[in-house]
Amino acid sequence: MFSDWLHWHGFPAITMVKRPKSKPSSTGAGYKTLEGNCLQNRTLPSLAFGRKSCSHKWMVQAQEQFIARWGPARRAWAHGQRVTRCIGFDCSPVDSKRTYGFRKHDGRRYRTIFPLIKWGWDRKECVCQIVEAGLPVPVKSACFFCPASKPWEVLWLAWKHPDLFVRAIEIEDRAQPNLQKVEGLWRSTTKTRPGSWRR
Ligand code: SF4
Repeated sequence: MFSDWLHWHGFPAITMVKRPKSKPSSTGAGYKTLEGNCLQNRTLPSLAFGRKSCSHKWMVQAQEQFIARWGPARRAWAHGQRVTRCIGFDCSPVDSKRTYGFRKHDGRRYRTIFPLIKWGWDRKECVCQIVEAGLPVPVKSACFFCPASKPWEVLWLAWKHPDLFVRAIEIEDRAQPNLQKVEGLWRSTTKTRPGSWRR
């Protein structure tokens, strides 16, 4: 839908990119998704262990692998220019803090800019702009088994998409025998929720 909207307004359509399938290994036949990665290796997304490599591996690297073969980027690099990468972090303190992690990967090939921060758009302003453009306000963009999900989001998932909720629980159950310091997708129990989604 958004791709069509872009097209009608003179922008290029969205290009969807994916990591290539991993090679078969001693743990299984290979995987094409983070869900497959977790199931095959009986593990959880790295965020559950306090690291952030899942988003880098499955989002940033998938885009960079595509761009590395993309004609306009190759021509720019051949002329000593950098590719401008725009990321839609808003200007809230939480999102602004996330910019450093991306800038440090710029190097000689990329220059990362954050248009929403430059325009001073916080989350509320983004919603206003989306509504004004006549577009539906999207839900949060994340994996359905993301360890950063809030308790109400997990309950919403179980109610609205029970099939996805069951798949998330399967990831956790399969990883369980390998977990030592981590209880589950929510890592550890807090005052307001357990450390595992199954609990
Ligand atoms: S949405 Fe969550 S689980 Fe998915 S890649 Fe990002 S941090 Fe990892």
